[in-house]
Amino acid sequence: MQPGASMPTYEYQGVHLEAPPEEHLHIWLLGTGSPSLSVSRHGIATLIRAGGRWLLFDTGRATLQRMYECGIPIPEVTDIFYTHLHSDHICGLPDLWMTGWFVLHRARPLKLYGPEGTQRAVDGLREFHHFDLSVRRKYETAEPAGQAFQVAEFGEGVVFDEDGVRVTAFRVDHGPAVTPAYGFSVEWKGRKVVLSGDTTICDGVLQQAAGCDVLIHEIAGASHQQLAANQITRRILSIHTSPEQMNQICRQTQPRLTLLNHISLWRITQYDVLRRVRAGYGGDVELALDRMEVLVGEHITVLPPGPPRSGQDLIVEDTHRSNS
Ligand SMILES: [Zn+2]
Repeated sequence: MQPGASMPTYEYQGVHLEAPPEEHLHIWLLGTGSPSLSVSRHGIATLIRAGGRWLLFDTGRATLQRMYECGIPIPEVTDIFYTHLHSDHICGLPDLWMTGWFVLHRARPLKLYGPEGTQRAVDGLREFHHFDLSVRRKYETAEPAGQAFQVAEFGEGVVFDEDGVRVTAFRVDHGPAVTPAYGFSVEWKGRKVVLSGDTTICDGVLQQAAGCDVLIHEIAGASHQQLAANQITRRILSIHTSPEQMNQICRQTQPRLTLLNHISLWRITQYDVLRRVRAGYGGDVELALDRMEVLVGEHITVLPPGPPRSGQDLIVEDTHRSNS
């Protein structure tokens, strides 16, 4: 650092960001779980850094904590994309929004790109926190702009195109009751990452994922006995992707790497599910893990989760408004 240069607010201590950002698209699998209460697999959330931009996809439970553990500069993450509005995909937003504002001093609005209904959800969220929004303004040092939202409801097509980074939404099939539901493709410098969102096998994923670099796809598995005996399991699985369907998706689209997330299991192990997905398919398929990182460039590097960062070192100094 040059003498006199200001200290960066955050200093990422992992080895991963030492890779030149202009050469890699960087993925953090922040949360890879289902709505279940596992703390080893928290709610669904995926963070991508491309071309200097941070893009967050869905904000399941503990999105904020997982970003903190990964050493992410949380106030810089302001572009958030929603596949659909099921609660397990949005329930981490209130914490990310409020704590990111008054504790971490985010000074810019959150930009939410979501399907129809997103503005209504945000209006309700502001009402839910009406008390705190009112009182903290009177004595907190956080910037008022940081508690604002900018909402862009989208249909199919390009929803973000800035600094050479393009995000395209495509329709997926999450059952007739959950519509619209979307997946996303993220393209930058000839690299392409596809996120399925919640869906059973569908044309949208098959078309978008063909030949992509990384496919991040949901998976749901149940034992044969469970499927035979339990109607609710059969109904839930009908709007998600079975191991056999996932095997077909891999065979048809041939991604360089496939990562399985939003992992839902009924009386079956994740390893049995993985074995069934891989059956006879020669490509790379792995179970995603919370805080796993992937560098996508000429080579694809998968970094297993390291020990989580802890302590108070991400709390920024109070250099903002005075309390007077
Ligand atoms: Zn869903």
